[in-house]
Amino acid sequence: MDYELTETQQMIVDLCGKIAEEKIKPVRAHYDETEEFPWPIVDELRKADIFGVYLPEKYGGLGGLNFEQALAFEALSRACGGVALSSGASGLCGIPILLFGNAEQRQRYLPSMSSGKRLGAFSLTEPEAGSDAMAVRCSARLDGDHYVLNGIKNFCSGAEVAEIYTVFATVNPARGARGISAFIVEKGTPGFSFGKKETKMGIRANPTYELVFKDCRIPKANLLYKEGYGLHVAQVTFDNSRTGVAAQALGIAQGALDETLEYIRVRKQFGQTIASFQAIQHMLADCGTSIEAARALLYSTTRAMDRALQPAIAQAVEKGTIVYDEMNNLKCRRWTKESAMCKVFCSDTAMRVTVDCVQMCGGIGYMRDFPVEKFVRDAKITQIYEGTNQIQRNEIAMMMVKQAASKK
Ligand SMILES: Cc1cc2nc3c(=O)[nH]c(=O)nc-3n(C[C@H](O)[C@H](O)[C@H](O)COP(=O)(O)OP(=O)(O)OC[C@H]3O[C@@H](n4cnc5c(N)ncnc54)[C@H](O)[C@@H]3O)c2cc1C
Repeated sequence: MDYELTETQQMIVDLCGKIAEEKIKPVRAHYDETEEFPWPIVDELRKADIFGVYLPEKYGGLGGLNFEQALAFEALSRACGGVALSSGASGLCGIPILLFGNAEQRQRYLPSMSSGKRLGAFSLTEPEAGSDAMAVRCSARLDGDHYVLNGIKNFCSGAEVAEIYTVFATVNPARGARGISAFIVEKGTPGFSFGKKETKMGIRANPTYELVFKDCRIPKANLLYKEGYGLHVAQVTFDNSRTGVAAQALGIAQGALDETLEYIRVRKQFGQTIASFQAIQHMLADCGTSIEAARALLYSTTRAMDRALQPAIAQAVEKGTIVYDEMNNLKCRRWTKESAMCKVFCSDTAMRVTVDCVQMCGGIGYMRDFPVEKFVRDAKITQIYEGTNQIQRNEIAMMMVKQAASKK
């Protein structure tokens, strides 16, 4: 399918495809096995300016947005969804700073995130606040010119290697969702440390850590947007970032299918190639069709989102205002339903396709030294993080009912 990419968009796809093929593929099994962080690949992504594809040029980015981020994440995930997450997790930290940060915060953090010099991470989840994000208990108490953070966050992707964290804590537990606020916390701040490192099923090249805050004093200036708006910051961030998870899932599905096609075209049984059996051809056709449908949904959604959002970003950058305020001025609508649809459809596709790929390859597909089983393990997380697919379906259905009611 020709998606009529611009020269810059095609360049992103080509560059990421080259890095995926030449740099990631040869080492993906190593990082999966060892759970080391792939610093040499991060260096390649830095050199290619991939960390800033979604950021405005003023901050050293390529001036793209969700569509460009999706193109990059898909192309890298085609080789390894875990290695690709080194840029994706950092982007998840950068989006709330871009959308809710003031001009000073944007200038202080985005250029170094855009160059990849400093990586970012995003921390909303806690042991008792997973799907129920309103249950956040990590606390932030205002004390003079500082907030004092106390509590535990968990399951933070890209933590420890990241320098900048967007962290959600409550300034007033009695106010529930309206007590939660978003903060920027820098690694090395006294009272901020790392707890348990998780051992995972997939995306093993990306570290997942517990964050520990013990009387951690952060400047008041590190509050993102306003007190009590934290949950909203997280939700608007997810409206955008969930299409990144969808792109990761799409790349994983395509990567598994690429490997499978290579194998079944040459492997012979009963004197003929596996690819020539009609039972296999039908699985192949279903995998290819689902992937193309997922791609069409993701590309059209991110393009529509970006068309709506770019004018608000341009205006905020020019005037030195907050993007979210400009989104409201321009009456930008939310994309919760559409981005949730992308995540659900692409991640369910990735799960189905990768499992079918193992089946098409037979016994070798199940083996660790053949790349396909890793795609299954990497695909699974895309149905879980940034809100499980059950939560996405709740959101989609709720919006559908609401929209139907508003037409009456
Ligand atoms: C590898 C990994 C990386 C992660 N990275 C990050 C990160 O960088 N930052 C971050 O903040 N978080 C991160 N997370 C957390 C992730 O977003 C949560 O795990 C996810 O939102 C689900 O929360 P939970 O694990 O507590 O599951 P639970 O909320 O305990 O859910 C358990 C099951 O119940 C279902 N369920 C719960 N509530 C409902 C409901 N109302 N309706 C229907 N079904 C429901 C869920 O769908 C799920 O199947 C990460 C998680 C993992 C595993």
